[in-house]
Amino acid sequence: MSARIDHAVTSGTFSLDGETFDVDNNVWVVGDDTECVVIDAPHDAAAILAAVGDRTLKAIVCTHAHDDHVRVAPALREAAGAPILLHPDDQPVWELTHPDLLWDVDLADGQRIEVGGTTLEVLHTPGHAPGAVCLYAADLGCVFTGDTLFQGGPGATGRSFSDRPTIEESIRTRLFALPDETVVHTGHGADTTIGAERALLDG
Ligand SMILES: [Zn+2]
Repeated sequence: MSARIDHAVTSGTFSLDGETFDVDNNVWVVGDDTECVVIDAPHDAAAILAAVGDRTLKAIVCTHAHDDHVRVAPALREAAGAPILLHPDDQPVWELTHPDLLWDVDLADGQRIEVGGTTLEVLHTPGHAPGAVCLYAADLGCVFTGDTLFQGGPGATGRSFSDRPTIEESIRTRLFALPDETVVHTGHGADTTIGAERALLDG
């Protein structure tokens, strides 16, 4: 049985620094026919559970703690009995959305998450948020970047807890170390590749 990637899009809002925006978020589900992990938990637990189907949900992996990525993580945990994984550097961001709840397991750079016969390697890529991570699936030839890298360039760094030089350093040292043909599955919008984004940022 080989691992596959399922995808859902949820619609809702993102709020930070007293402003609220309408956003569409990507949800990525990685696994095989029996087990999977969910990457990010925006807006709508039912839509995410539909993508999981009757499989065992092993983990809810949060690329960072902005509210449009963690809003329904506790509801998913409740529904599926799966732990929430988050990098601890995003604690102050998490507390803006879930001040009375905790996540379950700290993510760490270099950690490997095994699911459905494939492996997600955690890359700590601060900048968009201090605890932002990307998840590299070498044998699937792809990386899940959350809001660190989009089609067209780095994620936003204009708000609290963000830093432009830090995100550029993360992208250049961690993501651009991956093969050019690596497909980039982003937190919002279309896919891209590492090679295309390297050419854009350096071009
Ligand atoms: Zn974000």
